[in-house]
Amino acid sequence: MIRVPDLEQKLGVLMSLAAADREGLPPRLRHAEAAGALRPLNIRALRPRPGTRTALLRILLTNACSFNCHYCPMRRDRDMPRTLLKPEELVRIFLDARRRGWVEGLFITTGIPGRPVHVMDDLIRALELLRRKHRFGGYIHVKLVPGADDAQIDRVTALASRVSLNFEAPCGASLARIAPDKSFATTLHDFERVRGQVVRERQARAEGRPADPLAPGGASGMTMQFVVGATPDTDRSIIGTVARLRRGGGVHHAHFSAFRPISDTPMEQVPATPALREHRLYQAEYLLRTYGFSADEVVYGPGGNLPLTLDPKTAWALSHPERFPVEITSAPQEELRRVPGIGPLAAGRIVEQRIATRFRGLADLQRLGVVTSRAAGFLTLGGRRLQSTRWTEQLGFWAPEEDVGTHHVVYSVSPGTFR
Ligand code: SF4
Repeated sequence: MIRVPDLEQKLGVLMSLAAADREGLPPRLRHAEAAGALRPLNIRALRPRPGTRTALLRILLTNACSFNCHYCPMRRDRDMPRTLLKPEELVRIFLDARRRGWVEGLFITTGIPGRPVHVMDDLIRALELLRRKHRFGGYIHVKLVPGADDAQIDRVTALASRVSLNFEAPCGASLARIAPDKSFATTLHDFERVRGQVVRERQARAEGRPADPLAPGGASGMTMQFVVGATPDTDRSIIGTVARLRRGGGVHHAHFSAFRPISDTPMEQVPATPALREHRLYQAEYLLRTYGFSADEVVYGPGGNLPLTLDPKTAWALSHPERFPVEITSAPQEELRRVPGIGPLAAGRIVEQRIATRFRGLADLQRLGVVTSRAAGFLTLGGRRLQSTRWTEQLGFWAPEEDVGTHHVVYSVSPGTFR
């Protein structure tokens, strides 16, 4: 293992991995000068609520790992410079970036050099320093490593705003194919351990106990990550697992990372998964999370994957002609939300404003936030169809092959680490 002793060099190694994720820089930092190794390359915007934005410093505690996951650039057998930040160094780096006005929050992830309990001790030490010594009450997202002690999981959850876990695959058999050192049962155990605390914290707040910014108890909700296309699992299987995990509460959302072949790994020759498949999974999960769809309602193709040519809401609408058209002037809010191009906000505005306002046409709906190019074919206004042909017949789709491509690109980094 090549050890990098100098802090500047350490940062260069650790932060370049986050920078290679497919996240752009916030506009205000696009022209920022490099400041040694602490460049604003690994800052991404989190939007906790519509209209709000938090810039996060994303950082690896270490890129050294004793695990040998087949898809991962940091796997044990891969030859690359390895380094490790001390908790005190990580804290200093974050506080420096914050002082410069670059970031408001922190995302910490890590490899697992040696036993998981050791790196968990370092994570807890970093959290304790930030919360107790420096009284930092802002957002901290921590990615939990598998195999931690229950007491460590509890402590991290108590101090973090959000805790995430990498499931990687929707079931144990698939996980074993790509991550032989990981156990689905262990991740599930850790997930339930965090969930219990998050649900209790949220319940206490709902009952009136004030939030403690120095001990937020993971109340921002958990996230989980799946590598898509590294195993033969279908989208139906992945969305089914996500739906089951959501059922007990405490979950904010799921992340999906399209598999990308990494050089010098056992999966180097496996084709990359189209980014569009990842996008469709995000859209399907959004239907469960925000639109009240059940997993059974999501429409899949014959092979069990989401259609690439249609977004999942449109695919559902087209497979339920008996539900359309929907009458704008009288349909319940729930029905309006099911129309492609009408989100929860727009549906609420329609219901609110139709009492006193007489909508005359598409321009009125556009002003309320309706994407009329998608919605028009599914609506009537005062009994009149707004468009004679449906959205699917009007738009020129891009063919999925355009996204899939034909050449085989091999990468040196994977985006999944930072989700
Ligand atoms: S996915 Fe995580 S545990 Fe597996 S090799 Fe990579 S860093 Fe280690």
